[in-house]
Amino acid sequence: MVRVVQSFGRVAAATAHVISADEGLSLLKSAQAKPASLLPYGNGRSYGDTCQNTAGAVIDMRGRNRILDFDTRTGLIRAEAGAMLADIIVEAAPHGWFPPVVPGTRYVTLGGAIANDVHGKNHHRRGSFGCHVTALTLLRSDGIVYECAPDRETELFRATLGGMGLTGLIQEATIRLMRVDCADVIEKVQGFSSLDEYFDLAEEADAANEYAVAWIDQLAGGTAAGRGLLLTANHAPDGVFRPAGRARLSVPLQPPLNVLNKLSIRLFNAAYQRAKLRHEGPRRSHYGSYFFPLDGVAGWNRLYGPRGLHQHQSVIPEGAARTVVPALLAAARDAGEASFLTVLKRFGPQRSPAIMSFPRPGFTLTLDFPNRGKKTVQLLEQLDKITIDAGGAVNPYKDVRMSAGVFAASFPGWRILERQRDPAFISDFWRRTAMTLEPAPHGKGAAHDDCRTVTAMRKI
Ligand SMILES: Cc1cc2nc3c(=O)[nH]c(=O)nc-3n(C[C@H](O)[C@H](O)[C@H](O)COP(=O)(O)OP(=O)(O)OC[C@H]3O[C@@H](n4cnc5c(N)ncnc54)[C@H](O)[C@@H]3O)c2cc1C
Repeated sequence: MVRVVQSFGRVAAATAHVISADEGLSLLKSAQAKPASLLPYGNGRSYGDTCQNTAGAVIDMRGRNRILDFDTRTGLIRAEAGAMLADIIVEAAPHGWFPPVVPGTRYVTLGGAIANDVHGKNHHRRGSFGCHVTALTLLRSDGIVYECAPDRETELFRATLGGMGLTGLIQEATIRLMRVDCADVIEKVQGFSSLDEYFDLAEEADAANEYAVAWIDQLAGGTAAGRGLLLTANHAPDGVFRPAGRARLSVPLQPPLNVLNKLSIRLFNAAYQRAKLRHEGPRRSHYGSYFFPLDGVAGWNRLYGPRGLHQHQSVIPEGAARTVVPALLAAARDAGEASFLTVLKRFGPQRSPAIMSFPRPGFTLTLDFPNRGKKTVQLLEQLDKITIDAGGAVNPYKDVRMSAGVFAASFPGWRILERQRDPAFISDFWRRTAMTLEPAPHGKGAAHDDCRTVTAMRKI
């Protein structure tokens, strides 16, 4: 069936041939002629075109979503790749287990979380999702199911974590959950009046808490520039598990215009700050509202209007962050662009086994902008340049427009993934970035060549 395959940003709506999970699996296992190219599709919660394949077909994995095995003693859970983190939590939390890494929405599939090696508010303690995958099965276009684990088919395993669906189809995976007394958290809020104040607090906050993240009032300028809130939390010591409910609100229709403009964001920022600071002392929060506040409004991304939104996520090395993060925020303010959600977080030193993992030690800044065409893209390019010049990286699974040069500078090891890529699998993202870069010169070591690419790209 040909239909529009949308990612969360809704900037590039792509039509593609959509194949169900069952059809995809039998197609790959048989000697049948395959479509020109394939790509697994999770739940489309990536913001850009890493989950789109306009020129070929996508395999919608949501039909394969069973939890296959759960050992309540060890916390090992095995599930089909289309299982949502929402369902894994409901299965595991009543037994005192929780996913060690959750992103800002629980509506992501197990396969999508692995393929993007996602991170959460506790990267400083637990690293990224890939650190907790103990096994996965990968079906490739040669019809073979590869049993991968940290010590088995190691290169393929490491390329599949963070491999953006390019190494084949993850059928099922096992992850090790984390012990918690309760899924809910005890949350604390602390206001800060400048970024310097935040940077002074960040390391200590990480050391003392399982979760730590800062919200920034991006529109505040002058002496108020960089003000925000530090939100820290730890799992509650007791309590009964109550599953998160369905969204109470929804945006059923597409407004004709972007509703999240400068005025509404200014009002929201002031109200948010007031509401949060009213509860500065520790308070108990349901896991749904703490980890996944945006899941409470179904279709909230429609508020950005019919042209969609761009998310820009950068990571800046620790030593440069105090000057570079303010420069990124100032660039956005000077361009007159308002970011609805501006989040700053410290990534810890824990390395993922993934070849292509976005998190690395430093500070990560996330900004959301309504798509206002060329003007917004110009700002995003400026943010890319500031990031790469500082030795940082730009997140590919939040992106629909970064240049091949920015991608290569962010991921010098991209050729290792290209070597492990299944020849039948590709995405719109890979086509417009990696596929336009020069292949490694014959006879040169990949590592040497990758360093050359980075040096060249830093000059963009
Ligand atoms: C509100 C919101 C908050 C978010 N917060 C965070 C955050 O805090 N941290 C973070 O890291 N991310 C965050 N994200 C991004 C999101 O977590 C990731 O993009 C996630 O990978 C999406 O999963 P998905 O199941 O929707 O997969 P999709 O977006 O559909 O696909 C993602 C990638 O996985 C591949 N893939 C999917 N299934 C398989 C499979 N079975 N086998 C092989 N490859 C597969 C696809 O080809 C694609 O490359 C957020 C997104 C939203 C909308």
